[in-house]
Amino acid sequence: MAVLPIVKYGAEVLRKPAEPIVDIDEAVQKLIDDMVETMYAAPGIGLAANQVGVSKRLMMIDLSVGKRPGELHICINPEIVEREGEQQEDEGCLSIPDFTETVTRPARVKMRYVDRNGTEREMWGEELMARAMCHETDHLNGTLYVDHLRGFKRDRLLKKVTKLSKSGMW
Ligand SMILES: [Zn+2]
Repeated sequence: MAVLPIVKYGAEVLRKPAEPIVDIDEAVQKLIDDMVETMYAAPGIGLAANQVGVSKRLMMIDLSVGKRPGELHICINPEIVEREGEQQEDEGCLSIPDFTETVTRPARVKMRYVDRNGTEREMWGEELMARAMCHETDHLNGTLYVDHLRGFKRDRLLKKVTKLSKSGMW
């Protein structure tokens, strides 16, 4: 397994809708293992494949960051199929380090996906899990959390982020 470099804001791969995975082959299994290690090393609670430069519909979430077995969800071709309610909490992203901003998300979501064994699954998530599910599936569609911000908050954050990314500080 290997810790992969995380692609930062400004990279084109973060803005491109990722391709569905047709075959869960050895290369995909290796990518999954490397991404798990990368997410834990960061440390982060979620990671999408395009954040390590691979434009494939694969993402993972572990709210315990590897501390509690059974909390790692590896999701291939995930899709949010139901949304309920609303929540507002601070959100960050490994591809936009050192920034957080309040983002409105559904309170509860249902996601459909395929696990690494090829089994189709459905799961409901609420609170932080719902937020992570939305954030990571957004990544696979080329959307970043900053896209959900409006007005002054968005301008302020993007100005700082653009300055940092141009200066090569990342
Ligand atoms: Zn992110």
